[in-house]
Amino acid sequence: MDQRNTKILGELMKKSGNSQCADCGSKDVEYASYNIGILLCSRCAQIHLNMGSHVSKPKHLKLDHWEDSQVERLKQVGNLVAKGKYEARVPVGFRRPAGFSQVPCPTSTDPPLLLEHWIVSKYVREEFICSTGNNNDQQDVSSPLRPYLLGNMDSFLMKKGREDVRFFPRRFVLDPTTLRYYVKEKSNPKAVIKLVELDVSLSPQKLKHPYSLQLSYLNHGSTRHLYVYHDDPELVCQWYHAIRISKLNALKHACSSGKAPVYVQESTLVSMLPHDSGFEGYLWKAGPSPSYAHRRRWFTLNNRKLMYHIEALDAYPKGEIFLGSNEPVDQGKIESQISVASKVFDVEIKASNVCSSITGYKVTVGGFGDDKMDPQRWVFSLHTPYRTFILAAETQLERDKWVSVLDFTLRHEINPRDIATCSQLVRKRNGSVISNPLSGLLSSSSSSSPITSAVNTTTNSSTSIR
Ligand SMILES: [Zn+2]
Repeated sequence: MDQRNTKILGELMKKSGNSQCADCGSKDVEYASYNIGILLCSRCAQIHLNMGSHVSKPKHLKLDHWEDSQVERLKQVGNLVAKGKYEARVPVGFRRPAGFSQVPCPTSTDPPLLLEHWIVSKYVREEFICSTGNNNDQQDVSSPLRPYLLGNMDSFLMKKGREDVRFFPRRFVLDPTTLRYYVKEKSNPKAVIKLVELDVSLSPQKLKHPYSLQLSYLNHGSTRHLYVYHDDPELVCQWYHAIRISKLNALKHACSSGKAPVYVQESTLVSMLPHDSGFEGYLWKAGPSPSYAHRRRWFTLNNRKLMYHIEALDAYPKGEIFLGSNEPVDQGKIESQISVASKVFDVEIKASNVCSSITGYKVTVGGFGDDKMDPQRWVFSLHTPYRTFILAAETQLERDKWVSVLDFTLRHEINPRDIATCSQLVRKRNGSVISNPLSGLLSSSSSSSPITSAVNTTTNSSTSIR
């Protein structure tokens, strides 16, 4: 390649904004799209290539030949200028790729589905461009945002039956404060879910469907999971983002409405949206005493809530563990977060309950010397103020991942949503959640489980940790 162009490209790569991929924020910049004028990583360059040369023309920065005009285009635009154009109207709750995320995440990999949706939304559909017209035109001619970016959704999704492995078409409707779904068109909704309590994540491996979502919310004090999919990837991405955007708006509204509004920074509210990716997988779980058998359970980490299930697609977890902090916390800060959490989630939170359960957590490699874990498994321990959980993974790699993700979680700053989770799970452990319509169903199905009975001896109630 022309030595002059090689030199200019080398300088461009060092320019502010250009050292990170324009689309995912990765620091491995190797390509550039010479018509758009941006620098990219190899993964995003591949998506650009797939969009077709009428949209984007990516090229390797070092291995391909560059014309003067192409280098000039890259010089004129660059990642910062392109960002100003193509990302002018990205709603705050929209999930950006991990490299740009405001909230650090231990498992910072971008699901391919979301990365592709992000890039196609930016350059093919130009969803976030703000076109302000020419000087003679006084009006803003920006096209209205697409309905999903305003949090409006109404469509059928295939939903897994609660006690059934089959999926059925159900109508889901998202409005500014709730998500509802209907079994029959003209009947009342089967569930009305408050958005402030709703979490959403992509779960392609778990559902064995590439375009699927897990929706989790509180139902009578217990977490309830819904599993849905659709064959249209675009629709699934729209649902994913619409729920996040609407949830952020619902959180803002909950803070500012009513008699005593509370001020909460937007970044705190964003931290209360579902984390980039929940961490999940099978682990072996021992009982509280070494004499109890260990069981294989499906574990799901969702922010500071660690849940375990008998099967991956269960509607309810068998147990839920709050993960507090491994360091002392600022009492004053916790109290102010309690007032925010009470307001946002509209629940009474006892400060004494939260303060006694917020610290004293630790994750360590290894467990009891004399437990019954198979020596082939990789053991680790989760210490909480009221019990140590002995867990084991099938491989060393899995164990190390779990330990690092749990350790990250314990060090992460506590937000008002975590306070609400802590309060909910303390109340549950103390047996004050009495109206769970499923407690009978679950205790009868698990009455013979040594883990269930073992856990119950450490608590005051048979409906608490299941
Ligand atoms: Zn990239």
